[in-house]
Amino acid sequence: MQGNPQLVSRARGALLGLVAGNQLGVPTEHLGTAEAIRKAFPNGVLDLAPPPKNSPYDDDAAMALLLGESLLASQGFDANDVARRWVKWMKVDGRGIGITTKRALTMIDRGKEPFEAGQLTNQENPGRSAGNGSVMRCIPVGLRGDRAPRVLRDAIHRVPRESEGDLPIARAGEAGYVVHCIEIAFWFVTHDRSLEETLIYLAQAGGDTDTNAAVAGALLGARYGEVALPPRWVDQITGSEGIAQLAERLVADAT
Ligand SMILES: [Mg+2]
Repeated sequence: MQGNPQLVSRARGALLGLVAGNQLGVPTEHLGTAEAIRKAFPNGVLDLAPPPKNSPYDDDAAMALLLGESLLASQGFDANDVARRWVKWMKVDGRGIGITTKRALTMIDRGKEPFEAGQLTNQENPGRSAGNGSVMRCIPVGLRGDRAPRVLRDAIHRVPRESEGDLPIARAGEAGYVVHCIEIAFWFVTHDRSLEETLIYLAQAGGDTDTNAAVAGALLGARYGEVALPPRWVDQITGSEGIAQLAERLVADAT
């Protein structure tokens, strides 16, 4: 797969799209509804807000990039290596980390094995473990060529029949649910919306704005390639060239 320029552009677009969508949606993440967002941002959310000092990426982007680096360094998935990188990130930064992820990584930090920590976290809070953290950071796995789980493929098949108003974006109590997040992202891909238009829409639509926009950004970037990203957004991302190169290396390493 190495050297296929179209594939390389799509890989770069996927990872940059994820980071762009994440950064665009961060300021509106906790506002809940489209109405509250309009009130707080009367001129709209059109640009990526600069990240805080010493924290270039929110959790969605940070964990995805670390997973990508781990897949390359370990030549495949090594749960201990990924966990070590994530724990280190949690301790020095951890911006945006979700409660379930934080709980599991804290257990790992105290000596539990990664899969055991995951199981224990799940048992502590059964029925609350279908958060979208898993999809927001899984893009590097896809770039490396591993197969998508069934639930992702089912979501793709559902969306052609839905209209924009049916999308589960700001349903009370359901923000951040993993299947909704996948469904929303695939809807915009299936209905031929541009990356810029989609991310601006999702950053202002309420619900889990930053992760919905991150996952949609990754999918639209994968579909249209790097050219779909507005150049001003690429400029507003810290280390964008390194991110694009990571995507390229993952595709070159694909199994
Ligand atoms: Mg986040």
